[in-house]
Amino acid sequence: MSDSIWPAPPVGVCLLPAALEVEVAILGAGIHGAALARELTLRGVSCALVDRGEVGGGTSQWSSQLLHGGIRYMLTGDIRQMREGLVERAIWARIAPHRCRWEAFWMPHRYWVEGLAHRFGIGLYDHWGAERPGWPLALELGRVPRTAFDADPRSAGGPFRGATAYADLMTWDRELTKDLAASSGASLLDFHDPEGFDDDAGGLKALRLRDRRDGSARRLVAQRWVFALGPWTDGAMSRWFGETRHRLRLSAGIHLWFDAVPGCDRPWAIRRPKGRILFVIPRDGMLQVGTTEREVGDGWVPIVAAEREELFEALESNLPAIPWRQMPIRSEELGVRPLVAAGGATTHLSREATLEKHGQFPNLTLVLGGKLTTARALMAHLATDLTGTRCEASTTEPLTLWDGHPAQIR
Ligand SMILES: Cc1cc2nc3c(=O)[nH]c(=O)nc-3n(C[C@H](O)[C@H](O)[C@H](O)COP(=O)(O)OP(=O)(O)OC[C@H]3O[C@@H](n4cnc5c(N)ncnc54)[C@H](O)[C@@H]3O)c2cc1C
Repeated sequence: MSDSIWPAPPVGVCLLPAALEVEVAILGAGIHGAALARELTLRGVSCALVDRGEVGGGTSQWSSQLLHGGIRYMLTGDIRQMREGLVERAIWARIAPHRCRWEAFWMPHRYWVEGLAHRFGIGLYDHWGAERPGWPLALELGRVPRTAFDADPRSAGGPFRGATAYADLMTWDRELTKDLAASSGASLLDFHDPEGFDDDAGGLKALRLRDRRDGSARRLVAQRWVFALGPWTDGAMSRWFGETRHRLRLSAGIHLWFDAVPGCDRPWAIRRPKGRILFVIPRDGMLQVGTTEREVGDGWVPIVAAEREELFEALESNLPAIPWRQMPIRSEELGVRPLVAAGGATTHLSREATLEKHGQFPNLTLVLGGKLTTARALMAHLATDLTGTRCEASTTEPLTLWDGHPAQIR
């Protein structure tokens, strides 16, 4: 991913000293880096969280913002990943109740046989995901009553005959990432550019950093290092250490944001070919529509017209009563999924993360791939590995709200 488009840093100063020493240095303050900082703090281990931009300013602010079991895994048969997501979903609802909102997602069906299959699959999904702390009793799951379905403007004139409702958890991805960082005692080195490493036979020793706000230099010394650089990992490893190996494949996805449409009160999850889902989600007074999937390279990734068109075609063929093309797009955003490299189409690549111990630097671990949903669990595992200490509080200790007040998700 190109550096040239990185936004200018805000005005401000970092009050940390020019030389810092911690037990663990984390590079990358996305959901993984921030979650690891919290895990280490809970275990009483000192750490620093370094990012060349702001906390949560990377992929972790361009997701579909769902902490989910992954209803698509029900369709693709990846039951293990789905059940892991369902467990994690309940933990997020417990530790971040102010950044989450339970919802009843409607999955519409075309034929009664499809409706029956949905009811069976969704029944299992909601049975395995029955732990839902804070579930609002007014939200109903299972078969959507005919009158409610007909009252939604998305049902008119389209191919759908009814819908089944399943439970999932919505969040604010960037705020959640900032809360994780705020819940840690990490020395925060945001807006700092890594300029070079010092190493010896034992591994990485120190990192030279430049504060992008005032140009001042800092030196960070650590015993252990973790790179959680999301889709920028391959580019950074090539620039910093001359490595040419591709650990990741990158897949872009876009969301379009429209004004709210009266009567569209529940989120819809529409099955599309190849195990894909089209989400149409009312949130924050708007309608969020997504997402696409396009393999991209390691450079500047603009939204292309074909992606927008793909969403419009899917909307028009599935929900024809709404004049999508006449509605102004209020915002469009693109995120790049870091997927662990393997053969085949990116749509079929696993969304699971892996942890790689670096071959040359034994004290360096790389976080590759992953999702918001499973970031806490993976980082708890890594923290236990790094410190030799398990920590139950990770699943129960409420997050600190970075801005002091809860998000207004409507
Ligand atoms: C369209 C889309 C929809 C998605 N929907 C969902 C969803 O609904 N639910 C879900 O669970 N997951 C979803 N995901 C996946 C999820 O968003 C990502 O897997 C996750 O955010 C990755 O987090 P990360 O911490 O690994 O990376 P990032 O959030 O990208 O963090 C990496 C950080 O590294 C920093 N960095 C990069 N290079 C450098 C450098 N040289 N020096 C210092 N810092 C650097 C960046 O500034 C960034 O802050 C979606 C992803 C996409 C793209």
